[in-house]
Amino acid sequence: MHFTGRTWRPPYEANSIIIQATSGCTYKKCRFCSLYKDECFRMSPMEEFEEDLAEIKSYQPYARRIFWTGRTLSP
Ligand code: SF4
Repeated sequence: MHFTGRTWRPPYEANSIIIQATSGCTYKKCRFCSLYKDECFRMSPMEEFEEDLAEIKSYQPYARRIFWTGRTLSP
């Protein structure tokens, strides 16, 4: 799986799939937030996305929930 930086997963979603769609934040101006200060925004290339989907299909073909992780393009 391809992940950049930190990935957040609540304990009750331990068996759910997380796949990265983007990383970082395009805004980075919220005063209360320090999540992505040192990371540049990046969209996951389609090749990485397809590789991750193939890996999920191989290891967890019966996964019930898949979450896309990443930031929005604007706040
Ligand atoms: S938009 Fe979200 S991730 Fe970006 S700085 Fe604000 S709270 Fe943080």
